[in-house]
Order: sequence, then C-alpha cells, then structure tokens
Amino acid sequence: MQRFKYMGGKVYGLIGRTLKHSYSVRIHQELGNSAYRLFELESEALSEFLSREDIGGLNVTIPYKRDVMRFCAVLSPEAQAIGSVNTIVRKADGLHGYNTDAYGFKYMAQRAHIEFAGRKVVIFGSGGASLTAQAVAKAQGASEVVVVSRNGTDNYGNLRRHRDGEILINATPMGMHPHAGECVADPKDFGRCKGVLDLIYNPHRTTFIIRAEQLGIPCSGGLSMLVAQAKAAAELFFGTPIPDCETERILALIGRETSNIVITGMPGSGKSIVGKALGKITGREVVDVDAEIVRCAGKSIEEIFREDGEEEFRRLEHEQTALAGARGGRIITTGGGVVKDMRNYAPLHQNGRIYHIVRDLKLLDRAGRPLSAGADLAQMNRERLPLYEYFRDAVIENDGTPEEAADRIWRDFCENTCD
Ligand code: NAP
Repeated sequence: MQRFKYMGGKVYGLIGRTLKHSYSVRIHQELGNSAYRLFELESEALSEFLSREDIGGLNVTIPYKRDVMRFCAVLSPEAQAIGSVNTIVRKADGLHGYNTDAYGFKYMAQRAHIEFAGRKVVIFGSGGASLTAQAVAKAQGASEVVVVSRNGTDNYGNLRRHRDGEILINATPMGMHPHAGECVADPKDFGRCKGVLDLIYNPHRTTFIIRAEQLGIPCSGGLSMLVAQAKAAAELFFGTPIPDCETERILALIGRETSNIVITGMPGSGKSIVGKALGKITGREVVDVDAEIVRCAGKSIEEIFREDGEEEFRRLEHEQTALAGARGGRIITTGGGVVKDMRNYAPLHQNGRIYHIVRDLKLLDRAGRPLSAGADLAQMNRERLPLYEYFRDAVIENDGTPEEAADRIWRDFCENTCD
C-alpha cells in the first residue's frame, strides 16, 4: 500500500547503534513510507546526523532515546514526563521530540485485556522502556509500581517481597534472541498474577510469556507495541491519522512473515512430504530437524541409535530443535519423537505454530525408522498422544494428498498468526 507517495526527498528512518534484527523498515513500508531506512550511528555521529536539514521523521532506539532529547527544540509533554524520545520530526522551529512507545505500550496492554488500575505492577529493568511502562501504569491508576533492577533497592535477590505483584512487565533484554530461554522471573511464583507483558518481540513468545500462557494468565509479547508505536510515529511524520485497523493488518502480516510453521506427528505420518509441499506453496525454506541431525552427526539416524543410543539422539535432536526454532519465517519438520523431550516445546513454540499431522495408523510409512519399524504403533500412538496434544496448536488430517494437507495448514496459519 502506498499511503505517502511523495516523501519530498526527506530522510526517514530509525537511528540506533545495532539495528540488525529490526522490523521497522518492513513496518513503515507497509504504512506507506518507502523512504524509511536504518541508520546505525556511533554516539559521536549523533549531533551531525541530527543537524541535517532534510530530516523528515526519525525513530530512535537503544541507546539514544535519552541522548536525543538535548537536540530537540520542543518536547511533547509525554516525552518530557517519561524522559525518553523515540520519535523526532523536523519542523520550522527545529526538532520536535515525542514518545510513541507509550501509545504502543498502552495498545499492547489493552489488546491483551490487561488493566493496571488498582493493581500492583512489577516492572523488571530500569532503562528507557521501563520509564515508559512506569509512566503508563501510573497514569492508568496502578496502586503501586515497583521497579526491579539488578543493583536497585528492589532486586532479583529480594524479589520474594513482591510476590503479591499482579501485573508483571519485562522491560529488560532478558530472553531476547539469541538468548531465548533466559527469564527475569517465573509468573507461577506470583500467586495473584493477572497479567504478563514482555516488551521483547523477537522471539514472539519469550519463556516469560510461555510460562504465563501455560498458567492461563493473560499475556502479550512486544510485537503489537512495536507496530502500534510505528503507526503513531507515521502519524506524526505526515500529520495524517491512520486507523487502528492498519495496526492490526500490519501486525498480522509481520506476525505471519516472522512465524514458523512447525510440523510434528507420528513417524511415517507424512511430515516431511507435507512440509515439502508446503514449501512449494509458500516459497518458504523447509528445515528438517532429522536431516540437520544427520548432517551434524555425519551418520544416519539408524547409526546414531545403534552406536550411541536413544539418549544421545535426543540430545542432538534438542540441540537442532533449538537452532531451528530460533529463526522465524520458515517451515520446520520434526522427528516423531520430538515431543518426548519437553525441553523442545519452548524452542518450537517461541516463534511457531505447531501442527500435529494425523494419519490412519494402517497407512503409516515405517521404512528407515528405527523406533517404529518393529513397534506396536497403536501403543506408541496412545503413549504419545498426550504429548502431541500438549505441543500442538492445531491438528491436520493427512488423509488425502500431501498438497491437500499442506493447503489446510497454510489456510489455518494465515488465519491464526497474529501476535
Ligand atoms: P535499555 O535502556 O538497554 O534497558 C534495559 C534495562 O534492562 C537496563 O536498564 C537494565 O536494568 C536491564 N538489563 C540490561 N541487561 C540485563 C541483563 N542481562 N539482565 C537483567 N537485566 C538487564 O533497553 P530498553 O530500551 O529499556 O529496552 C528494554 C527491552 O524492551 C529491550 O528488549 C527492547 O528490545 C524492548 N523494547 C521493545 C519495544 C517494543 O516496541 N516492543 C520498545 C522499546 C523497547 P537494571 O540495570 O536496572 O537491571
């Protein structure tokens, strides 16, 4: 969509120090800004860059959200109150600084049906994002806002005294790619917890969010905040209101583009062949975890089982599952026994929608499968079914051609991937 056809040769983009994993260009393109670029700057270059007369609109990220404030002639009341600027627009009287992260954070909480009014809010981290979360929680009537900081009065060593926290917010990089698995705290230790928010959007679901999901606590990762703050920034860049349905459209689009399709199921149920068919339909890369194990071990799966045993195979499988699940936007086909190791759930779920392929047991293909060749498949299916049920987001019948099963998966995926 081209909303803003004429950019007037002006500079639009994101400034920060490391922008390798940024989704901002993609989001602003969808908002209609084809001029939006990434500008990786060292702090010495900040002053010169911000003196450019051709600045149309900028977003600001780590570590410059506070540093840019001194270059702004005018600060919005919100930016001033929060003490952090993430959006800059050049006007006749100089640079104007705004904070659209606050809007994005409010949008994320509201979308997840999480309310702050009258509740004790515990925020992990004391950086720029924490300042935004603190300001919003207070403005919306939180009864108490506690900031947990590594070196503060409230820290990870004495967290026990805030076990009555009702809303938990991660505003640290703990759990962010490539450190998935790290977690500031376990929501299960907070008996009155009614909401969990994580500002991290890569992975889609951090361990913090997965734990909340498992407890049935309303929760959200940071992608909706990211898209909403970008929409609010684009409104300031061009002085044109953009409807919320655009936020939702872009959120669904980016969610889909950056999510994995994960296929699991009984040995021989057609996971690989359906995965390949899906690769053809979607143009997505297909990663086969078993093939990765064979490539890394330098021997076949039968040889690994025979020479090293199942335990070693499961260790290799977990290693390759973690690697496959860390990146989004792909199709991941797994071995049938991947569900036997619960440690594989988070790596597959963090960026993925997990499909359980089901096929009539009489039709399962047993060739070259060390664990199913001589096994009682009905018994194996009974044992594994609760595990597949735990892992899966959806069930797909593979009772026709692989293309039909692939098509069913793709339709479901397109309808259901949104942060
Ligand atoms: P920041 O200014 O670097 O602050 C992060 C804070 O986290 C630090 O002040 C520190 O607080 C704590 N921290 C840093 N490293 C840590 C570690 N290894 N273990 C525990 N705590 C650590 O970053 P920020 O701008 O506030 O951003 C924080 C997170 O929010 C990042 O992951 C960022 O990507 C995300 N974010 C997302 C959005 C969005 O739109 N979704 C917007 C803004 C930020 P203490 O020293 O007090 O412990």
